Amino acid sequence: MNKVFLCKETAPEETRVALVPMHIKKLTELGFEVAVQSGAGENIACSDEDYAEAGAKIVETVFDGYDFGDIVVRINKPDNVNGIRQGVLHISSFDVFNEKEAVKEYAEAGIRLVSLEMMPRSTIAQKMDIQSSQASLAGYYAVLLAASRLPKLFPMMMTPAGTISPARVFIIGVGVAGLQAIATAKRLGARVEAFDTRPVVEEEVKSLGAKFVKIDLGEMGQTEQGYAKELTPEQVEKQRQGQAKVCAQSDIVITTAKVFGRKAPMLLTKDMIADMKPGSIIVDMAVATGGNVEGSDPGEDVILDSGVMIISGDRLERHVPKDASNMFSGNIFAFLEHFWDTENKTFKLDTTDDIISSCLITADGQILDERFK
Ligand code: NAD
Repeated sequence: MNKVFLCKETAPEETRVALVPMHIKKLTELGFEVAVQSGAGENIACSDEDYAEAGAKIVETVFDGYDFGDIVVRINKPDNVNGIRQGVLHISSFDVFNEKEAVKEYAEAGIRLVSLEMMPRSTIAQKMDIQSSQASLAGYYAVLLAASRLPKLFPMMMTPAGTISPARVFIIGVGVAGLQAIATAKRLGARVEAFDTRPVVEEEVKSLGAKFVKIDLGEMGQTEQGYAKELTPEQVEKQRQGQAKVCAQSDIVITTAKVFGRKAPMLLTKDMIADMKPGSIIVDMAVATGGNVEGSDPGEDVILDSGVMIISGDRLERHVPKDASNMFSGNIFAFLEHFWDTENKTFKLDTTDDIISSCLITADGQILDERFK
């Protein structure tokens, strides 16, 4: 298995590409053969010629590519499996928890499905982790987006005409996106506060110069993989009460609170939002998985009568497609390189490897993970 096919994304809102010419060159140097669908890199100004120069063969249609590749690579899962050959290794993000029908379809078609969100959180898998690489960019962009809509500056300024107070930013959920949001807001001069249910985060928040908001929710903790545990309804209510005052005082609230494989907790209710100042901005980065903010909409920004704006924080990395593609591509390259058998010059799917056992969802016509059956 050494033939990789890079697809052009079909979703109109997608701006990224899963492999960039730099990594195609590295793959061909290893011994892979690569085909690229014409126009795959057009959103990031990578032409077919750039890909051809890196060693790829350019194919016109996705079906030409499917005929060529025994490994198919893309950012998003396609609408259907039409044309994908039996036995092919299909690598993309997949949203497996919400796409059980599609998982079944892949199994029945005999496709070996790798869902990149299922990458384990081990040191070795870190360089293959699309969730981290993309969330970091999204966290950065969330702050820029909020700053550009806020009717005030971020830093404190003392001028002869008067003193400008610093913007107050509250980050709820301090994982990869939240940490980058804190760092970005601090760099722009805001006063930043943050909260997360995982107690280990407090030190990281402080080390970035932000204040950790203390809310006692009783037993919290994290899973072995470093994800948050789901709160009870009582804990969620306590959290809402504990953070209501901070929200009311903040100019910007950015929510990134997610629970892996589950619906995101609803942390900002209509009542809490009604207490926020007119002109305040909320960015809901969990909007696609249920939302942290009551009334947020994945497809559009919402302006409330109170003058508060709720911005959709869905896949904000799409606003910085060049870096997002470079990083996604780095993740895919690391994955392919990790399983490259140098001696036999082939990609070797080692099913005993922790990485494969976590993210290979279907094989030999079967769904491998009970959770997706
Ligand atoms: P995530 O996207 O699942 O969640 C985002 C954040 O929301 C997390 O910090 C979570 O604790 C928090 N959260 C959940 N419920 C909350 C609530 N009710 N209130 C406030 N916050 C809430 O998580 P993530 O950003 O992908 O990563 C979480 C952790 O895993 C981080 O510490 C990160 O450094 C670590 N990580 C490790 C690896 C690795 O070792 N390979 C890779 C990626 C991330």
